[in-house]
Amino acid sequence: MAKIAMKSPIAELDGDEMTRVLWKWIKEILIVPYVDLKSEYYDLSVDERDRTADKVTVDAANAIKRLGVGVKCATITPNQQRVEEFGLKQMWKSPNGTIRAILDGTVFRAPVIVKGITPLVPTWRKPIVIARHAYGDVYRDTESYVKKGEKAELVITGADGEKRHTVFDFSDCGGVTLGMHNTDKSIGSFARSCFNYAVDLKQDLWFATKDTISKTYDHRFKDIFQEIYDADYVDKFKAAGIEYFYTLIDDAVARVIRSDGGFIWACKNYDGDVMSDMVATAFGSLAMMTSVLVSPDGFYEFEAAHGTVTRHFRQHQSGKETSTNSIATIFAWTGALRKRGQLDGLKKLVDFADRLEKASIDTIEAGFMTKDLASIYEGSAVTLSSRDFLTEIASRL
Ligand code: NAP
Ligand code: MG
Repeated sequence: MAKIAMKSPIAELDGDEMTRVLWKWIKEILIVPYVDLKSEYYDLSVDERDRTADKVTVDAANAIKRLGVGVKCATITPNQQRVEEFGLKQMWKSPNGTIRAILDGTVFRAPVIVKGITPLVPTWRKPIVIARHAYGDVYRDTESYVKKGEKAELVITGADGEKRHTVFDFSDCGGVTLGMHNTDKSIGSFARSCFNYAVDLKQDLWFATKDTISKTYDHRFKDIFQEIYDADYVDKFKAAGIEYFYTLIDDAVARVIRSDGGFIWACKNYDGDVMSDMVATAFGSLAMMTSVLVSPDGFYEFEAAHGTVTRHFRQHQSGKETSTNSIATIFAWTGALRKRGQLDGLKKLVDFADRLEKASIDTIEAGFMTKDLASIYEGSAVTLSSRDFLTEIASRL
């Protein structure tokens, strides 16, 4: 059989531990036998990041910018324990944070849905994609204790002089206060990423804040979304047969629970942090959550939402077989290959991505799966090792 050709490469970002093992096997068993893979390889293992003083991460992010599409394996974010374990020169920053800062993107998370695993909200038949704004608000705030008798003020200085707003007069009792911010530029980038992704997926976009209470701060988010939508997206949404609507966060939460899924829910930073964990849990398993970073300039980076699955890697290192779920990592690959195919006009590559996803889902729906799914599957399940699960998918592909 002739392999499917590619025109331009994707950026391939390898990672750490168990997901690095899966990465190699996925390529060997499910990709390379069928696709004449063109990729620019970057090794983001913690050792290589240390050796290159993290230059490899920056190079990889720039490669995604240059090539338009990247696929990333999970990586270790060093903490003190990891610094000692690997003898690192310093506690390198999170690679995802570094890449996000360079691409200025929004992260979209979507669950892979299979028959036989019912979400905890049983009406959710289609995926709910959470788009989380990844800048500012309470994640970049300034906080302080305040003593009884003190007054907290918001002071803004600049060319227009000084503006002072009283936050609270703590005359009777001490307490706490905080100041936080966001920028029109970041909110605008977030809005564009969401609108572009909605058009891409042909799915409705919901956006919600608490603008009835936060009449300036949250209201600014609502206005910027509406201005950008009115200026650039009305026709594109109409052509795609989709809808943008804004509602109050309370109303959104109620509607999400009653919905059958199949839309993108854009959330402010904190809302997205909390709601993505709720939605992921309700859909069943972290191992079934995919994630894509979409930049406002139209660059895409696909990855799994979970980490390097260290506990399973320890088993693997000691020579034992593991039953680690590779679905989210496989879907990172199919996401990247499909996007590459769409950008380069390669129908066969797009078809291949569809077929590999279908073969993966069919395998689970036929009762063959890894341990994490077997424990929540409603039929009778055959539990496979990490590698046997991949060969089982290959047999259906
Ligand atoms: P994790 O790797 O997501 O794993 C936590 C637990 O979730 C596992 O022990 C396992 O549970 C279950 N799990 C996750 N993915 C699974 C899969 N594909 N198949 C089966 N079970 C799965 O999180 P962690 O252990 O907290 O973090 C490990 C390393 O990953 C850390 O160094 C962290 O920095 C890094 N990390 C990277 C990313 C990223 O690159 N995007 C994201 C998060 C964390 P059982 O052990 O009960 O089977
Ligand atoms: Mg969280």
